[in-house]
Amino acid sequence: MDHIWILSSFAVYYITNTLLMIAIQNFSFQYNRKKVLYNNLSLTLPEGFIYGLLGKNGAGKSTLLKNMVGMLFPTRGSIRVNERDPKKRTPSFLQNIYLIPEEVYVPALTIQRYVSLFSPFYPLFDRNAFYKYLEELEVKHAGKLNTMSFGQQKKFIIAFALACNTRVLLLDEPTNGLDIPSKSQFRKLIASIMNDERIIFISTHQIRDLDNLIDRVVIVDNGELLLHASMSEISERLSFRKVKELPADIEIFYSEDTLGGKSIVYENKTDEDTRVNLEQLFDAVTQQPASAKTIFSKPKKSFQ
Ligand code: ADP
Repeated sequence: MDHIWILSSFAVYYITNTLLMIAIQNFSFQYNRKKVLYNNLSLTLPEGFIYGLLGKNGAGKSTLLKNMVGMLFPTRGSIRVNERDPKKRTPSFLQNIYLIPEEVYVPALTIQRYVSLFSPFYPLFDRNAFYKYLEELEVKHAGKLNTMSFGQQKKFIIAFALACNTRVLLLDEPTNGLDIPSKSQFRKLIASIMNDERIIFISTHQIRDLDNLIDRVVIVDNGELLLHASMSEISERLSFRKVKELPADIEIFYSEDTLGGKSIVYENKTDEDTRVNLEQLFDAVTQQPASAKTIFSKPKKSFQ
C-alpha cells in the first residue's frame, strides 16, 4: 500500500510544483494531402493566464486543442505540455489536462455514478467543489445524464472538468449551447478557479463571450498565427473609439459602421486609455494582418 501512497504523492507533487508551459514549435497539421490547416506555427503559452483562442469557424481551433491533448498528432513540428509529448498520452500527463470538447458526450449514468467512475482518473478531484459548481450552474437532475438537455449536459461537463483541478484546462467553444445567464455564470466560475499555476485555454468564434475574462489573445487564420498578445499590450498598442466621422488626423487601422457613426481602431501613439473591443480587434487583425504585424512588432514598452 505504501508504494501506491508514495507514487500518488509524487504525482500530486509533480502536478502542483513544476513550472507549466505549453510550447508549440513549427507546428504543421493537415487532415489530408489537399489542404494544409496549420503551417509552421510557433507559440509559447506560459502558466498563469486565461487565453482566448479566436478564429473563424473552420480556422482549426478544435484541431489545435486536440493536438494539445494528444487526440491528434502534428504532421510536422511539435507540441509539448510541460516538456511532455501529448501523443504518448501517459496517465500522469492525462491526469493533469482536461479538454471540454465542443460537443460533449455523456453516457447513460447518473451524476453520482459518473463521478465515482471517472473522478479517480484525476487525483486532485474536489467533490465538494463539483457539487458547488453544479449548484452555481443550476444543474439539477436525478435521472441519467443522457436524458438531460444539451445545455445541461454541457454545464455538467464544465462542472466536472473544473472540479478535476487539472493545471491545464482546454475549452472548445464552451459557451455554445448555453443560455445568457449560464454564460455569465460560466465566466464567473472560470475567473474564480484561475490561479498563477494554471493554463486555461478557451477557443471560440463567439468572441463577445470572452469579454472581461481573458488575459491574453491568440488569433489564428488560414493556418497562421496572426496575434498573440496580452490585453494590456493590446490596449497600449491600439485605441478603440466610436466617432461620428472618420478623423482626418489619425491613420485608421480599421473602421466599421455602427449606429450613428463609426467604430475605429488605430495605433495608440499618445498613451490613450481605451477599452479593448475584442470583436473589433479580431476583425481588424484578420482583415489587415500585415498592418497588425507592423504595429505589434514595434519595440515593446512595458508589456508582460
Ligand atoms: P474550428 O474549430 O476552428 O471551427 P476545426 O479544427 O474543427 O475548426 O476544423 C478545421 C478544418 O478542418 C475544417 O475545414 C474542417 O472541415 C476540417 N476537419 C476537421 N476535422 C476533420 C477530419 N476529421 N477530417 C478532415 N477534415 C477535418
